[in-house]
Amino acid sequence: MASMGIGRWLTRREELSGEKVAIVCGDHRWTYRSLNRRVNRLANALNDLGVREGDRVAVLLPNGSEILEFLFACAKLGAILVPINFRLAPEEVRYIVEDAVPVCLAYHRMFAATVDPLQGEDNGVRHWIRVGTPAGEASPDLGYEALVEGGSEEEPERDISLDRVHMMMYTSGTTGKPKGALLTHGNTTWNVVNTLGRIPVGEDEITLTVAPLFHIGAMNILTTPTLYRGGTVVVEDRFDPLRLLEAIERERVTSLFLVPAMWLALLQVADFERYDLRSLRFAVSGGAPCPLTVIEFFQERGVPFFEGFGMTETSPSVCILDGADARRKRGSVGKPLMHVDVRIVDDADRDVPMGEVGELLVRGPSVMVGYWNRPRETREALRDGWLHTGDLARRDEEGFLYLVDRKKDMIITGGENVYPVEVEQVLYRHPKIREAAVVGIPDDRWGESVKAVVAVKEGESLTLEELRAFCDGKLARYKIPRVLEVVEALPRNAAGKVLKTVLRRG
Ligand code: ATP
Ligand code: MG
Repeated sequence: MASMGIGRWLTRREELSGEKVAIVCGDHRWTYRSLNRRVNRLANALNDLGVREGDRVAVLLPNGSEILEFLFACAKLGAILVPINFRLAPEEVRYIVEDAVPVCLAYHRMFAATVDPLQGEDNGVRHWIRVGTPAGEASPDLGYEALVEGGSEEEPERDISLDRVHMMMYTSGTTGKPKGALLTHGNTTWNVVNTLGRIPVGEDEITLTVAPLFHIGAMNILTTPTLYRGGTVVVEDRFDPLRLLEAIERERVTSLFLVPAMWLALLQVADFERYDLRSLRFAVSGGAPCPLTVIEFFQERGVPFFEGFGMTETSPSVCILDGADARRKRGSVGKPLMHVDVRIVDDADRDVPMGEVGELLVRGPSVMVGYWNRPRETREALRDGWLHTGDLARRDEEGFLYLVDRKKDMIITGGENVYPVEVEQVLYRHPKIREAAVVGIPDDRWGESVKAVVAVKEGESLTLEELRAFCDGKLARYKIPRVLEVVEALPRNAAGKVLKTVLRRG
């Protein structure tokens, strides 16, 4: 019997469309048949190494087919994949390894310097698997290709129920230390159902994945739904706007998910219009507020642009603004997905009247079962059956949701609430500004005052007076920045999110 859970997707896809291309990665093209066989071999090899149900298997891998092979191999075994952010500093990787206690850690040789010191430590890792050793060269640890070749091609005989955890995905660490969100086979499956209910991922989809796969957005917004549907995932291992545009043209890419920082960088390409992007049927952004200027750029070119809101804890999709509403409901994150309930509440968890700002709560079958090793945070987040997102939102009379900001980022100046994202959207319209962030800084008179931190376009400069004059009439006076700092680039984490804790420290 084939295993239940998301591992079965590949088994079925091999039966249904074994010759279709599942993954394109560099010079490799894996059909569903070859992919499923490799995944079975890996699963059986891991089993032979002693990986059991519930064991964690950590991966420190760049985007490539290997991380997806681990995803499905772990799923077939009932083991838990722990993708580690490869942009973390060695100390931060150590924190995750000590937190997750994986039995295996697979790493790419390019991250050997991070992994080497961990190998002598007492962290529970029994097997180190090295990816990317050139053919013919001896691998100092278990070589990935040799491991895969040594495993049997048989379907692993495990019966995995949907309520088992298959992935522990760390949150982006924007507001504190990353937390391991425990996602079940059911969570990920319902996320696909939710996605397909609103985003037209088709059998002939060719999606391009360049956002890092250790981030839930890259993994589950279009990648896993495309594999579920039997489409093709083109995996790129690094973000370079020109390479990306070439790949879209070459592979006839039909859909693209990027985080806002990547969309911004893409639009900076001077001769953007030289590329043939007519294959692109739709584009999706999520993970952070998307500048409206980006959404408008694609709308003007007739490419439906979906803005989605989600979080690691919700596998991730919560709501989406359909392309058809994008113009009319600019700035909204749309309506909840098919199997997602939302509420907007005050500090006592009472529903706020329509139009008012409150904390967004989420409920549904794609919500995580809890955080790994963090009973207190789990209890705080999952109260009365609702996930407390820490995000502020409001809902209009037609039911469209507007993400206002994170609760932790709200500024109170002279008793008035200022939501930084609203100010940032205005700043992004300034012709000299490339990137903008707004934070509250302590102020003796006002409690907090509004500070803008911006990066300007090449060869430009900007003064506070100019900035204030630009905001005049577009924002209430108390929202207009009183302090301006011009920087080379904003500090961002690996998901491209601005680290406001760093900006507040000044
Ligand atoms: P941490 O929880 O570790 O501080 P994080 O919240 O950034 O990090 P993720 O789970 O990757 O980790 O991100 C989810 C958050 O991203 C949401 O709670 C929300 O604040 C923000 N977000 C996601 N999509 C959008 C969007 N479309 N618009 C505005 N904010 C968004
Ligand atoms: Mg979060």
